Amino acid sequence: MISDIFCKIINGELKADIVWQDDDFLVINDINPQAPVHLLIIPKKHFEALHDFIESDASLLGKALLVADKVAKQVGVHDKGYRLILNEGEHGGKLVPHLHIHLLGGKPLGAKIVQ
Ligand code: AMP
Repeated sequence: MISDIFCKIINGELKADIVWQDDDFLVINDINPQAPVHLLIIPKKHFEALHDFIESDASLLGKALLVADKVAKQVGVHDKGYRLILNEGEHGGKLVPHLHIHLLGGKPLGAKIVQ
């Protein structure tokens, strides 16, 4: 894993291509896009992973999906569709230890399950 660069982006220590933000979430363009649209939906509060969430954080997780739908409209992929991915742990291929959801779209995305 690499260090938590997302906290540095949220704190303003590192620059990023910000697409949308509010008090709870930052949405940025992925630096290494895997599709024409590849966004990262990042909670500003630091959670390393889903295992850090407790019951009272559940509404924040729900809000992440509302944010995804909103930014999908903003970047023009809402009508054709998009995919959300949340990687966890070694087998999930997670690199940055700060919970984030990938939003991919802008072309047909192919197989839904990794071969
Ligand atoms: P994951 O494998 O789910 O942890 O994904 C981490 C993602 O963060 C990868 O898709 C990277 O390309 C992306 N990434 C890493 N550093 C940056 C950065 N400085 N700005 C935007 N995206 C980044």
